[in-house]
Amino acid sequence: MSTSTIPAKRQLILALSKGRIFEDTMPLLEAAGITVLENPETSRKLILDTNDPGVRVIIVRASDVPTYVQYGAADFGVAGKDVLLEHGGEGLYQPIDLKIASCRMSVAVNAGFDYETAVRQGARLRVATKFVQTAREHFAAKGVHVDLIKLYGSMELAPLVGLSDAIVDVVSTGSTLRANNLVEVETIMEISSRLVVNQAALKLKRERLQPILEAFERASSKQS
Ligand code: AMP
Repeated sequence: MSTSTIPAKRQLILALSKGRIFEDTMPLLEAAGITVLENPETSRKLILDTNDPGVRVIIVRASDVPTYVQYGAADFGVAGKDVLLEHGGEGLYQPIDLKIASCRMSVAVNAGFDYETAVRQGARLRVATKFVQTAREHFAAKGVHVDLIKLYGSMELAPLVGLSDAIVDVVSTGSTLRANNLVEVETIMEISSRLVVNQAALKLKRERLQPILEAFERASSKQS
């Protein structure tokens, strides 16, 4: 059956990003009886078919997932808490913590930089990060004055070349920090990925979405 013969109400688009979120979402989709037919690491396609003609997966940047879902270009998606906090969550229903792609948001500095003393003495810190909202709130709550420098990637480089005193970044094993002679000085929060659903789709496509959301919930609670 081609997708054009399926009523719009019964067609679903899921937004995912490549890498860990895609890989960790596959077992959850399998639990809902859905298999993605192409691998985004080897295919250049941005719209991937599944074994269910009514479900397709779009591949977007991690930070764009909430935007596609907010505007209804995707019905649902998977995004990290880090990304959702920066986006603000407007127009999104967030029913399930999938407990996948877990990591933590941390402050890191050059090995040898005395972060505690700098903070205690009220020094104005330069902090480079992609996560400006989270960083702003974190330092404001601590009463630390910071100049935030927005970067889009490779935050670890900033303290090495003197762009900043500290970075706020997501850390998983810590090996990237170690490889660059940086040390984690503070954990801001634990991060995991959540399912996000377009609020209109939740009402209009509930019949189609509900069994998938339930399968995701059952499969993710088994993982924890
Ligand atoms: P690691 O070396 O394992 O601590 O991984 C750190 C690097 O991988 C950083 O550059 C992060 O930006 C990225 N990273 C690790 N885990 C995640 C995640 N769950 N979501 C997004 N980026 C991640």
